Formats: sequence, structure tokens, C-alpha cells
Amino acid sequence: MILISDFSIKFPLEKERMFLYDREKRILSDKICRMSDAKQTNCFDNPVEEGIYMIIFHIDANSAYLSWEAAYRIQNGASVDLREIPSVVGGNEKQRHGIVLAKSIPSKKYGIQTGESLYSARQKCPDLVVVPPNYDLYIKCSDAMYQILCEYSPIVQRFSVDECFLDYTDSEKRFGDPVQAAFTIKERIKKELGFTVNIGVSTNKILAKMASEFKKPDKLHTLFPDEMKDKLWPLPVEDLFMVGRATTQKLKKNKY
Ligand SMILES: [Mg+2]
Repeated sequence: MILISDFSIKFPLEKERMFLYDREKRILSDKICRMSDAKQTNCFDNPVEEGIYMIIFHIDANSAYLSWEAAYRIQNGASVDLREIPSVVGGNEKQRHGIVLAKSIPSKKYGIQTGESLYSARQKCPDLVVVPPNYDLYIKCSDAMYQILCEYSPIVQRFSVDECFLDYTDSEKRFGDPVQAAFTIKERIKKELGFTVNIGVSTNKILAKMASEFKKPDKLHTLFPDEMKDKLWPLPVEDLFMVGRATTQKLKKNKY
């Protein structure tokens, strides 16, 4: 197992790190935009052969802040796993302010919601364990996950601190069947880093992202175009990517 605390941050200076990250993000987002074109081009701008689709993975750490803190504590000798008890990551409770940033699955049984005040969460569950956020740890965990993903493709895009897209299209020749490879990645992250992820596999970023939102945690889902009718159509409209509360209301008004 890789100790998260031993994982070295790749860039020594924060300024340099952000510069490289921004540069990398611009290049990758440009490549991925081109990948998402209806024309279906690959990152080197060559048309993809007819009948051959892109293969995109979306990798999403489950309850990231909470499971990263739990994994770190377990690796440092803690006997209690925060993921198995009612617990949340949130602001400073002693100063009586802050909100729930992430929650464990057992805390959901008490109706605790991400974004609610710690005071309100404590009212719902008096035994709730509250841990403060640790952003340095999150960057290390995010980097460790990113590093594993980069072994499977030269094109990995960070979508947020705990989410990445990976273009597997040209990796199939080397690593084999995409679903099997995605499963291997999921298991490697769990075994080597100590936390779980959901992975969605499809032919573009939007479908891959929606696939990873299906049942959680520690699950692998596919959502290929020919599976949309069975897997996507029965879902409520608010499950569509980018459909928020306001759009949901508008769509429901129009009987969608
Ligand atoms: Mg996540």
C-alpha cells in the first residue's frame, strides 16, 4: 500500500504547480473539446475510423474529503474507520460555524445533508464525529489518483479535485478490454491508496460522467449509446448532467 502521507507532491512550488496545472488544463480541455465534436476526432486531429468510437472513462472518488481523511487515519493507525460511523468533514465546530462538506454513508441515515450547518447536523445526530477539512491531504490524494490514471493513458483531464476524465481510445491495444481495464483501475486505487471510486465508461465525456453517477460507492458502470434506452431513459430528468433545480422545474412544467 502507498502511504498517502509519503506521496510527494510533484511540483515543489505552489506558484509553479498552479502555472503548470493551468497550462496542462488548457491543453487537455482543448483536446477533449475536439474529442467531443460530433465529427469524432482523436486528440491528434485525425478522423477516427468509421465504426470505431472513442472510449472515455470518468473516475470519481466516493465522498472524497471524508474517505480521504478516513484512509489517512487508517494508514496512521486509527482503529475506527470514519466511513463506517456517522461522521462529516466540516468547518470549525468549536467556533460554532461551518457547514457539512462531506458525509459518511451512515450519517445519511440521520438525514444529514451536504451544505447544511454543523449545528443542524449535530441536532440530528448527537454522536456525530466532525473532522476539520485538510486541503493539503486532498491535493496529495488527488495527485496519487491522477498518477495511477496516467499509467493508462497520456490523456487524463482533471475535472475537479476528485474527478478525472481519461481517454482510453488508444490504450485498448496496450491494456485490453476497456471495462476490464476500468475495473483494474478501480481495484488498484482501492488497494494502493485505500479509498474507493466510481468509474463510468462510455463513448464521450457526458455519458461517462452520468454513468459514474449511477449506484455508489465502489462501482463500475457503462453507459454506451445502445444502453441509453434501458439505463438512462427511466431516470428522473434531474439526473441528467447539468440539470439543476431551476431547469428541473422548467422541464417538469413542460411534462418532461
Ligand atoms: Mg466525488
